[in-house]
Amino acid sequence: MKVDMHIHTTASDGQYTPSEIAGKAAALKLEFFAITDHDTVAGIAEGRAAAQELRIRMIPGIEISTFDTEEIHMLGYQIDEKNKSLTAKCEEFAMEREGRGKRVCDYLNEIGIPVDWQEILEIAAGANISRPHFAAWLQQHGYVKERKDAFKKYLDTPEFHKATDRKLPTPYEAIALIHEAGGKAVLAHPGLLRMLPKEQKELICRCREHGLDGLECYYGRHSKEQTAYYLQIAKGLNLKVTAGSDFHGEKVKPDVVMGMEIDGNQTELGF
Ligand code: AMP
Ligand code: MN
Ligand code: MN
Ligand code: MN
Repeated sequence: MKVDMHIHTTASDGQYTPSEIAGKAAALKLEFFAITDHDTVAGIAEGRAAAQELRIRMIPGIEISTFDTEEIHMLGYQIDEKNKSLTAKCEEFAMEREGRGKRVCDYLNEIGIPVDWQEILEIAAGANISRPHFAAWLQQHGYVKERKDAFKKYLDTPEFHKATDRKLPTPYEAIALIHEAGGKAVLAHPGLLRMLPKEQKELICRCREHGLDGLECYYGRHSKEQTAYYLQIAKGLNLKVTAGSDFHGEKVKPDVVMGMEIDGNQTELGF
């Protein structure tokens, strides 16, 4: 079965509009797909309408940035995107992102890179401001060849983080918010966590105690071994299993393709 439960659109840092994503999902003959933009539900209505027209199932989702001992991403599925608490929080997230974006501009200016806030707003074109928008600017202006080099050189260094960090909710707050909006909370890409395996397991257990519903065992960048490892953890903790590529479009993440072929069936995924 082929699905994709982790996709970004132009509502956050993805390359394609929600309608284009629905078109691609239909062309790939996915069983279903989810739109999971960073800290926003702005792409869902358009994605749903396009999906309905193409007769493909779309799961409304979100990917919330949180902080525990490192940045933890919490996916929410089957959320009511009109839920008041959720929309209010998304507005807060957008403001935090805007504030951080301005700090990123100041930081880059200080190290001699003449990036201008207005140009970033144009690149983002109404989306939540995120680092890939700065990476696009740095690439366009010849500071880096590939966008991933923008992170290595400028946007993911200790100095960058020190100068630009923003306030993030805890994973528990994100789980509660997702539940309040009627959704299921899933810990994203556990294989990308920087902490040790023992600490990962403790984190997943703690989140489970706070109501975590699932674990993204199948992930575009997980090895077979990692997938097997996380499937075992999910089974032990009675967590739902999800599968997502984290597709952003070729320009943003050239090595990530849309669609995940998985062994299980829909019932096993629990969606
Ligand atoms: P932000 O949420 O604004 O902190 O931006 C994080 C986003 O930047 C992630 O969702 C990825 O899409 C992207 N990103 C983070 N690290 C890298 C990297 N090393 N190479 C390419 N994209 C990255
Ligand atoms: Mn992203
Ligand atoms: Mn993520
Ligand atoms: Mn993502």
